[in-house]
Amino acid sequence: MTRVPSLTELENKQEFLARHIGPDAEQQQQMLSAIGAESLEDMTQKIVPESILLKQGLNVADSRTEVEALAHLRSLADQNQVLKTYIGMGYSNTHVPSVILRNVLENPGWYTAYTPYQPEIAQGRLEAILNFQQLTIDLTGLDLASSSLLDEATAGAEAMGLAKRVSKNKKSNLFFVSDGVHPQTIDVVKTRAVGFGLEVIVGPASDAVNHDVFGAMLSYPASNGQVDDIEQLIADLQAKKAVVTVAADLMSLTVLKSPGEMGADVVFGNSQRFGVPMGFGGPHAAFFATRDKHKRSMPGRIIGVSKDTRGKPALRMAMQTREQHIRREKANSNICTAQVLLANMASFYAVYHGPKGLKNIATRINRLTTILATGLQAKGAELANDTWFDTITLNVGEDKDAILANGVEAGVNFRRDLAGQIGIALDETTTREDVAQLFDIILGTDHGLDVATLDSEVAGFSYADNLERTSEYLTHEVFNSYHSETEMMRYIRRLEGKDLALNHSMISLGSCTMKLNAASEMLPVSWNEFSNMHPFCPQDQAKGYVAMIEELEAWLVNITGYDAICTQPNSGAQGEYAGLLAIQKYHESRGDAHRNVCLIPSSAHGTNPASAQMIGMKVVVTACDSEGNVDMDDLRAKAEELSDSLSCIMITYPSTHGVYEETIGEICDIIHQHGGQVYLDGANMNAQVGLTSPGSIGADVSHLNLHKTFAIPHGGGGPGMGPIGVKAHLAPFVANHSVIDLKGPESGNGAVSAAQYGSASILPISYMYIAMLGNEGLRQSTQMAILNANYLKARLSEHFPILYTGRGGYVAHECIVDLRPLKESSGVTEMDVAKRLNDYGFHAPTMSFPVAGTLMIEPTESESKVEIDRLADALIAIRAEIAKVESGEWNETDNPLHNAPHTMDDIMDPTWNRAYDRELAVFPTQEVRNNKFWPTVNRIDDVYGDRNLHCSCVPTEDYV
Ligand SMILES: *Cc1c(COP(=O)(O)O)cnc(C)c1O
Repeated sequence: MTRVPSLTELENKQEFLARHIGPDAEQQQQMLSAIGAESLEDMTQKIVPESILLKQGLNVADSRTEVEALAHLRSLADQNQVLKTYIGMGYSNTHVPSVILRNVLENPGWYTAYTPYQPEIAQGRLEAILNFQQLTIDLTGLDLASSSLLDEATAGAEAMGLAKRVSKNKKSNLFFVSDGVHPQTIDVVKTRAVGFGLEVIVGPASDAVNHDVFGAMLSYPASNGQVDDIEQLIADLQAKKAVVTVAADLMSLTVLKSPGEMGADVVFGNSQRFGVPMGFGGPHAAFFATRDKHKRSMPGRIIGVSKDTRGKPALRMAMQTREQHIRREKANSNICTAQVLLANMASFYAVYHGPKGLKNIATRINRLTTILATGLQAKGAELANDTWFDTITLNVGEDKDAILANGVEAGVNFRRDLAGQIGIALDETTTREDVAQLFDIILGTDHGLDVATLDSEVAGFSYADNLERTSEYLTHEVFNSYHSETEMMRYIRRLEGKDLALNHSMISLGSCTMKLNAASEMLPVSWNEFSNMHPFCPQDQAKGYVAMIEELEAWLVNITGYDAICTQPNSGAQGEYAGLLAIQKYHESRGDAHRNVCLIPSSAHGTNPASAQMIGMKVVVTACDSEGNVDMDDLRAKAEELSDSLSCIMITYPSTHGVYEETIGEICDIIHQHGGQVYLDGANMNAQVGLTSPGSIGADVSHLNLHKTFAIPHGGGGPGMGPIGVKAHLAPFVANHSVIDLKGPESGNGAVSAAQYGSASILPISYMYIAMLGNEGLRQSTQMAILNANYLKARLSEHFPILYTGRGGYVAHECIVDLRPLKESSGVTEMDVAKRLNDYGFHAPTMSFPVAGTLMIEPTESESKVEIDRLADALIAIRAEIAKVESGEWNETDNPLHNAPHTMDDIMDPTWNRAYDRELAVFPTQEVRNNKFWPTVNRIDDVYGDRNLHCSCVPTEDYV
């Protein structure tokens, strides 16, 4: 008889690793021989410079199985107490419609997609985001909206930035902020003002006109609930050339006259309460709207309508020339990853409820608030606000602690940061029973009030008559068609079907690390204990959250070689900003405030210079040599020349060219010798984890894109998380928070995000990722990412020149295919190749970054050999197609590359008379025929779209 294996032998603690990594052991061997290495260790020795290789393994945790990791995280989640929140302050309870929860938030077709840079295969989410813009435009009463910003507080900071750019009061550096704005927004605005060299005055709104300001920020309703008519104030401020920005609540705008109708220049806020869970602070999408005349000054992305080559309406990102990847330090903002998934959810919420449904929800919230306020007042309670939409603030003086304690006892949280006051904010989840309970908590049980009686007695309005909304909104068909669940489910599915996400095929975007977002990593995001907590609840109720975050931080400390992690920045670019801010504060603390030069190699990602500019740093670009490496002579010369004013360098490692530069240690030394700090952009951390680390290399601070390296999905353009790691000397200078004081950083350090832990509810994803892979699995994932990239390079290098390689002719975790020679010989562009890949069922790799005319491919460890071979085969087949253009068999325009991508409209066209047949157009291989992805529009005309800017929903007739 064969021996029965022991239990220990049968228990495979590394089982998740095999699920996470694409190639199995046998395929790994085949791939290793293809690149001339014997083993993963041998490959590592050959590729990673000896000088930076870690001498010891990671010390995070032993790997856990999926079941074990979920059970462990569940034990942490159980330490959270989810009380009913009435805290308000920009975060509300909401009913996430189940049809949206299941079909969008929990659906890889939506959450694994990338930013819609390839619009022909992204028309679904582009339509959903366009709906978000329309929703914003309609409710704010303004002309133009952007697709989404990171949170309400940073949107406020962007509003200040826009005001500065467009204000006619050029001399003033003063910005007025009403004390009715939420405190975390004031905090972030103040932080941002320092970098811009602006001064912020905070005071009662009516005081704004007494200052010579370039702009002002009002709140409507105010943070304490007050709803004031701000029309005259806006006019008075504008008469003094101030740009007026207004923080607003989207739900209230369904019943209140819009700030746009009252003359506001900018309106912004949080869309969270439109069906997106609070998530202990995020992620949710901020909205931002302004007047048409300011469109070129808008921060963030704008989706616009253009047309395709057949003249059909088609959507794409508009006016990208305002953005960081083109304008670099002159960009309007550094926003890259934003909150697309959550903007989509909010827009679907509006589509599902429609204008009548929303108005009903808002009116009910307002009615309950009025009943609550009236009842309390009848029993002698004193209100701080005499008008309201959904929030009242009570003057409770000495009774405050007792009421708060009674609340917690009854399972209820109130707003508690105001001296002698408590705040109560209602929302769509509030019931009659809840209001009755609030009476009990605040008045004691023998108050004799009855909600039904009050409902029959209490008169209508809680704000001035003239503030009642009379204008229409959401009249477009899309908001009036899908109100049954069947219709809604199908609308979501119809849009999903237009988009290529990771559930169809690999997305090999270099620098973006589109790896597996495992289902077990995603499950906890929807758990009640993570999704339904208010960020400003008493923190002793969030013990599980804090324990999870602290453990994750400790792991990231070990992985990065830094001493501390700050989890507040909610995107990579936001991390850059936060890291540079810490550097600047550090310099100041040493009397070196004059150090303000930031060296940035020419190959850097656009967010680097844009972030440096936001701190008020002067960007000096350093050259790269012909190998793509930092030109050491130029760097030395500039560091020498600028020694006295040098603040830091921002450098990416492995370089944006995808190679391990051998000189990285020397670069750190040179900068340090001149008193500067090293910011290492961590976007390429997937080539470091377990093999080397920014801390051990000698850098001082880095951001991590948890949505690249640590498995958070890209959500079609966000959410993301960009925590920063810092060496001990920078730790006191990272962001803190004015509402929740964090331990670690110095109190009083300004915030960079609205919530103290950024988008906390997606941190469980990275937590699960690390917990399941463990020390060995993390290291092996990095090695597999390198093997996959080098295998792909080996397969492609016979057909295309590969730009930039490191020692031994190897690349790190990505490789750049140079298409410029082919453009010379055939006229076929990188764009043609990218779009032709769509016909083969693939998303294009990163185009023209960091080098124009190239494609940068990053397969990640999660793609199997089969899938990588499929991509290689497609690119090789495309090379053969290019050869036919080179030889003249096809002319420059009548070929499948120039006309890609191909649609059903193409092959159904009775006038088809092209030099190639329909089959080659849409079914270039048998594989494609078996699993066809259909682009829904032909190639889109960007120039037309920017010239004829249209950023709201397309009338349905236009599609006919
Ligand atoms: C993705 C990326 C960033 C920006 O990160 P976001 O999360 O998109 O803001 C910065 N630098 C590099 C090299 C990147 O690839």
